[in-house]
Amino acid sequence: MSDGLLVINAGSSSIKFSVYVTDNGDLRLTCNGQLEGLGVGITPHFFAKDADGTVAADDLWPPVEVGKQSALLGRLIDWIEDHLGDATLRAAGHRVVHGGSGYSAPVLVNKSVLDDLRALTSLAPLHQPHNLAPIAALSELHPDLPQVVCFDTAFHAHKRLEAEMFGLPRKYYDAGIKRYGFHGLSYEYIAHRLEDLDPQAARGRVIVAHLGSGVSMCAIKDGRSVDTSIGFTAVDGLMMGTRCGSLDVGVVLHLMQQDGLDAKALEKLFYKESGLLGVSGGLSNDMRVLMDSDAPEAKQAVDLFIYRVAKEVGALATAIGGIDALVFTAGIGEHSAAVRQRVCDLLGWTGVRLDAAANDGHAMKVSAPDSAYGVWAIPTNEELMIARHTRKLVLG
Ligand code: ADP
Repeated sequence: MSDGLLVINAGSSSIKFSVYVTDNGDLRLTCNGQLEGLGVGITPHFFAKDADGTVAADDLWPPVEVGKQSALLGRLIDWIEDHLGDATLRAAGHRVVHGGSGYSAPVLVNKSVLDDLRALTSLAPLHQPHNLAPIAALSELHPDLPQVVCFDTAFHAHKRLEAEMFGLPRKYYDAGIKRYGFHGLSYEYIAHRLEDLDPQAARGRVIVAHLGSGVSMCAIKDGRSVDTSIGFTAVDGLMMGTRCGSLDVGVVLHLMQQDGLDAKALEKLFYKESGLLGVSGGLSNDMRVLMDSDAPEAKQAVDLFIYRVAKEVGALATAIGGIDALVFTAGIGEHSAAVRQRVCDLLGWTGVRLDAAANDGHAMKVSAPDSAYGVWAIPTNEELMIARHTRKLVLG
């Protein structure tokens, strides 16, 4: 009889889930899917597919009443248990965006952990509450099911001071106002995967570009995060789908003083209305739409995105003293040959060369044999990383 592990990645309007079973020491995906429409009065849409892609469920569930949202999670768990065959659900692992200074590795959930994580909500206001909601609900529904929290910040927890500090009076650093870093589960997975594909480079100096709807980059040396583009909150660093990335703080002051924007309005502007969406004049936050568009604003948004990614490679290479491998991952990094080509064109001075056929054909290694370093397009798998951590903590 094998053990089942549920991985949950909860957002504001949907819960994405994956179910793994232990299989001779490995973890095998059995199904994944999502539950959309979590709000009160909305009709939830439940969709799941088996590991081979067969649709296992595509149903509308009855809307829930106020205070009864946990019933949706109960129904999801029932479906998973029915779908597990002869495996038994042994634990749930959750993606949590912020672990603050206190959590530098995955941990088992208890009340005090949950309280600590709730106290970090202001550091990730648009993610943390949604990540935590199903944990609390599951604790009530299935108090005996062990739950593990895995943090996007944890992989970066051992950066040196220069990679963490802002140029602010040090009392702020002491109070936790520092550069934490995100997308850590993705970087950790990629570091492990590169170990299989190119062990020598994986033990050297690696830059990973996680280019999804959230965007960040990480400099990794000897398999450990040395520095990253993204900082105190998930709005920092590179330009993203709807987030602006790094901004002169003078702009914030100007918008407050001259335009009278308050904190709520600024949050909406920086997290929801900026990035590719904002620069393209509201056209789209989707890279595919912008690349297919003839509008000059779309072209400017794409150009700015690519310029900032390439520039960041220069900064991160300095942090680790060079580059042995450059890895592209997440939606844009994995699927857009054009973005990879254009970033590498700007980095031509470093001696990088892509193999056009490999890049256009979406091979895993996309650099040419005479490139100064290997360039890779590796699919990330944050869910598998969470499942691995959960298995280790719960099953040993
Ligand atoms: P999330 O951060 O939500 O997990 P993903 O990693 O799935 O996001 O990335 C989503 C982004 O990937 C979207 O902006 C989408 O435009 C982009 N994307 C997906 N496929 C392609 C493609 N073929 N070319 C360019 N961009 C793509």
